[in-house]
Amino acid sequence: MSETEPAATDNAARAGAILHIDLAAVQANYRALAARTNGACAAVVKADAYGLGTTRVAPALARAGATTFFTALLDEAIAVRHSLAEITPAPVVYVLNGLAAGPATDFLTHDITPALNSLGEIETWAAAARAAGRALPAAIHIDTGMNRLGLPPAEMDVLAAEPDRLSGIDVRYMMSHLACAEDPDHPLNSEQLATFTAARARLPKAPASLANSSGIFLGSAYHFDLVRPGAALYGINPTPGRSNPMKQVIHLQGKILQVREIDAPRTVGYGATHRAAGPTRVATVAVGYADGYLRSLSSCGSAWIGGQRVSLIGRVSMDLTTFDVTEVSRDATRPGALVDLIGADISADDVAESAGTLGYEILTGLGHRYHRVYSGD
Ligand SMILES: *Cc1c(COP(=O)(O)O)cnc(C)c1O
Repeated sequence: MSETEPAATDNAARAGAILHIDLAAVQANYRALAARTNGACAAVVKADAYGLGTTRVAPALARAGATTFFTALLDEAIAVRHSLAEITPAPVVYVLNGLAAGPATDFLTHDITPALNSLGEIETWAAAARAAGRALPAAIHIDTGMNRLGLPPAEMDVLAAEPDRLSGIDVRYMMSHLACAEDPDHPLNSEQLATFTAARARLPKAPASLANSSGIFLGSAYHFDLVRPGAALYGINPTPGRSNPMKQVIHLQGKILQVREIDAPRTVGYGATHRAAGPTRVATVAVGYADGYLRSLSSCGSAWIGGQRVSLIGRVSMDLTTFDVTEVSRDATRPGALVDLIGADISADDVAESAGTLGYEILTGLGHRYHRVYSGD
């Protein structure tokens, strides 16, 4: 028994909600995605591994075979680099936001590889290579229709005409990013594929990377040499509208603080938005929008308790949310009992749909007041 264990138990007892994160499921998802491609499979771990905790998730992914990681920010990449210190050979860690994310010297100090997003960044990295007296690795991000990040068409033309601009740069990947991959019928998918293929043909030969999670499911034409899944690793459905091929990763349980028996007519919560129609039992759960349990779930969310679905009633407030548990046994709803807010019966995608957002936003918003329990790995 380590000395920290009693403290961890206390924390679980004190927490308003418990977030279970199944690292074995993350690893199984990684292996399942890697098995779909003939090329390599990276792991996107930006935004604290989509809210699940980079320092636990990145090493688990490395142990499942990931050797290439992507973050958005330089500080995220440094955290990944530290979390992977024990892993050999050292994985490659990319920063998607490129040299705008920090000075070239910081990339070199921490052995972080930039995705270069403009001719200016290519020039800066080539100069860093000359100063270092060696070739420096990078990915080159070409914008093929997202109009967000990467070399725009005019810069692409300049680079194709003047490929010497890449001298001193060891181009590990030519990459681009799909705007509509979760919609297999969207015409932009094949347009971006064609634009990407044409752009590659005009540049010095290099491996290529295009697909995010959903892009993997568009077929092998989209796979190239490296796929870059994020969301699917964490259990988000990469094929919306079809059954989810990924394993669920998170289980969020909120604690019942009180159960209120009310006789109609009475209202529940801020704004008196919910009016009980008849005698009602209301369970008040210790989770709220300060935990990333979105206020837009007011009057439309749901949860599971005692094998039954219960409706969220009234407004989600900062620290508290109320559910109608009239139909659930008193035993299953005593104070201290746990309600499934996200889990086997209600996925992060389901919660997102009720809230009018994406599973991505539910995961990246997962709060830091939750007591986190990691299993597997
Ligand atoms: C976030 C991101 C990914 C991962 O996307 P998912 O949809 O989460 O799989 C891949 N590539 C780039 C450039 C990204 O920004």
